[in-house]
Amino acid sequence: MRLAVDGLSHRYGDELAVDDVSFGIEAGELVALVGPSGCGKTTVVQSVAGHVRPTAGRIALRGEDVTGVPPEDRGISVVFQRSTLYPHMTVGENVAYGIAARGIDPARRDQLVDDHLKLVSLREQREARPAELSGGQRRRAELARALAPSPDVLLLDEPLSALDRTLRIRLREEIARIQRETGVTTLFVTHDQEDAMALADRLVVMNGGRIAGSGRPRELYESPPGPFVASFLGRSNTFSGAISGGAPLRIRAGEQEIELPSVEADVPDGTTVTCHVHPEDLSIRDPDVETALPSIAGRVSRVADVGRRYDVTVSVGDGAELVAEHASSPPAVDDAVAVAFAADRLHLFDRDEGRRVT
Ligand code: ATP
Repeated sequence: MRLAVDGLSHRYGDELAVDDVSFGIEAGELVALVGPSGCGKTTVVQSVAGHVRPTAGRIALRGEDVTGVPPEDRGISVVFQRSTLYPHMTVGENVAYGIAARGIDPARRDQLVDDHLKLVSLREQREARPAELSGGQRRRAELARALAPSPDVLLLDEPLSALDRTLRIRLREEIARIQRETGVTTLFVTHDQEDAMALADRLVVMNGGRIAGSGRPRELYESPPGPFVASFLGRSNTFSGAISGGAPLRIRAGEQEIELPSVEADVPDGTTVTCHVHPEDLSIRDPDVETALPSIAGRVSRVADVGRRYDVTVSVGDGAELVAEHASSPPAVDDAVAVAFAADRLHLFDRDEGRRVT
């Protein structure tokens, strides 16, 4: 394990901002720490960097406890959301600054600066000042400065959030390429689930100071461990129901009884559940045509044309609405429809305990 965060907790006065957080990153891995604003990501990353002394817990690098080690001696580089390039220095001087203190001879230092500017495609801008660079170029200069000292771990704290969407996606691809080429162990911190899913080998999802789930992006998306991960990682539809039969499993949602063949739940009858399903896992059917798929009856309340597909909103009773993605020829508002889904695409969580029951 290159980086291990073990039982980390932090209080600001009375507020427990981080509550018993543990996770690890293997050498060469890119892990995204992702969660909504205020969930404690910055506090975790600042503890790893050494700028916050956690109330409890331990940070280890290459198996060695560094919890009390000053930031500059940890072998960690950080790229922050806001630019920290020195405005009076050229790009080359900024990159050299990161390695200046390491007693490297000038010729070698010059070579390292050149190599890292090449890595981030900024060789031509070596003599430019930060103010002469575009937003994306500035981010790349910062990456070069952070990577030049060959850190054990690179921390990227919301590096894309100040950029517009097109630039953000382009830079996200750049970061993926640079991380692959250098193999640097990386912790990428973001509130943006799309950036996290697109970039990371593994996600650590935080909510309210705690870890809500961790795993490979696709696994977490397709099999979320709890309702928070289900709704945070995708546009999740929710409705509530109660388990009303064991085999085959049936759930009661409002007036409707939905049978889920081949799904088993380890909870007793009558358990109240929250049901989550992603819009792409729902299909709109003619209610008069029999389908083998489990389905819910409803009435179309809205049809939104979002370009390459339609988002069809269906009221299914008890104030619940489901949004289904639809490829072409959408139904009209007020049409009676059936909303069908594959049984294994419906995620059921015990409403009170929040744990997955299927
Ligand atoms: P954001 O993306 O908005 O920065 P975050 O997920 O990084 O959010 P933190 O910044 O770690 O979360 O904040 C976690 C909680 O701790 C929040 O409720 C925040 O108000 C509180 N907090 C953070 N820093 C301080 C501080 N220096 N003093 C007091 N409370 C703080």
